[in-house]
Amino acid sequence: SYPEGYAHEPTTEFRHHHEMRLQGETIERIAPTLSSANKIRVSIGQTLPESGQWSISVNPTDSTQVLATVEEASDEQVEAAITAALKAQPSWAHASLTDRATVLRRAAAYLRSHRLEINAVEILEAGKPWLEADNDIGEAIDFLEYYAIWAERLGHERLDSPAGETNQLRYRSRGVTVVIPPWNFPLAIPMGMTAAAIVMGNSVILKPAEQTPITARYIVQAFEHAGLPTGALCLVTGRGETVGAKLVRHPQVSTIAFTGSRAVGLDIIEAASQVVPGQISLKRVIAEMGGKNAIVVDADADLDQAVPGVIYSAFGFAGQKCSACSRVIVHRQIFDAFVDRLALAAGTLIVGDPRHAATQMGPVVDDAAQKKILGMIEEGKSGSELLYQGALPELNGYFVPPTIFINPDRQSALYREEIFGPVLTVERAEDLDDAIWRANDTIYALTQGIFSRSAKAIARAADAARAGNFYVNRGITGAIPGRHPFGGFGNSGVGFKAGGPSYLLQFADQQVISENL
Ligand code: GLU
Repeated sequence: SYPEGYAHEPTTEFRHHHEMRLQGETIERIAPTLSSANKIRVSIGQTLPESGQWSISVNPTDSTQVLATVEEASDEQVEAAITAALKAQPSWAHASLTDRATVLRRAAAYLRSHRLEINAVEILEAGKPWLEADNDIGEAIDFLEYYAIWAERLGHERLDSPAGETNQLRYRSRGVTVVIPPWNFPLAIPMGMTAAAIVMGNSVILKPAEQTPITARYIVQAFEHAGLPTGALCLVTGRGETVGAKLVRHPQVSTIAFTGSRAVGLDIIEAASQVVPGQISLKRVIAEMGGKNAIVVDADADLDQAVPGVIYSAFGFAGQKCSACSRVIVHRQIFDAFVDRLALAAGTLIVGDPRHAATQMGPVVDDAAQKKILGMIEEGKSGSELLYQGALPELNGYFVPPTIFINPDRQSALYREEIFGPVLTVERAEDLDDAIWRANDTIYALTQGIFSRSAKAIARAADAARAGNFYVNRGITGAIPGRHPFGGFGNSGVGFKAGGPSYLLQFADQQVISENL
């Protein structure tokens, strides 16, 4: 494995009866502990008066079920968190890279020992099918282990040091990092951003997504258990528009790590560029945003690979991944065959309650998401041709049927905008060049893929792809840290790839010490 000592965390084998039974039992055990009595408070390592404002977190599969009451941070609490983080940071930065890496490894051990419990929480709080929840935790563990190793490798780069002079490159911590993650990978994404900032000696204020605060609490618990000093990681709960906006604009924040929608990302980038008098650091923003990702199916594609690859990329976790496939572009020679098989395959998807092991697609995350996606589907019907729409389970949750359009109106919102739901368009291409052109015809540049048996076609598509991650003869989601460093360019984000060798550099300032001997 590379870097040496890194090994991707294996998934839980739910096909084994024992694991399956244990996960089922854990869901039964955890479900009754989640209710409005489960209070999630702002947590900064010292007792704070309550803000008096609360919101609730509900189960998207059954919207009548409240899973937690969540504190909405007040201005005073935000200030107190910044103060705590500023205070904790210098001594944490003083800890050696090895000690900081050890904290990450201990946090990983904590996640391993709570895996089925965290899975259960994600299944209930995010509506994730078992495998999706389990992969999220695996990815969180991977980030911790991978960044621990890279942190230890930094600082050994050699500079030219001629006779009479030594030159040394160092990495200095930047100060307070604000982490603003999405709800779709409620453990892995915040954990990746937090771990990177922490291991580089920064303190972190984590503002979890409103939809998944219970999962986020495990991040704080993992680091607490790992021995991270108090104040070096603060949990500040609340809405993005209020609490998140305040944190981003705070003059004593030096780094902002964000993953989420393009609209919010652009707002953060703009806000971070405003400098107030006396502000000693210019803010650095790392923003991972949306996609409108396409898969090309070439004339000679193996449909036994292409059909399941497209189905999983489009409908896994109900399409709620920035990496998800939302457009398929098919060579005209196999268009009809592909479309027939795609619709048949979509018809076999098990849509329902993610508490059941067999469920392949659950609800979307909340009421607003359901309304938005259903609205886009309705609008899509004028202009694009509906090929397939699944049935809805009789449940009281935020379900959206898996939906496939063919011959989409290429100017419509359906075709141009990120939907973040189980909706796919399939279009016909004249030839490979036409397919490549269509795949690239978006402002985003996140993921893209091709199914083809021709090495020439694959090479041509890879060279032309305007996408941060290009996948050949496989699905386009599920990047694994260290194997598929993840992130886009264009309108899909700014910054180095998560789970890649350069990611940590963003959380440090480089300093060169030149000594005349
Ligand atoms: N890393 C994830 C994947 O490869 C996507 C992350 C996201 O949706 O933000 O599927």
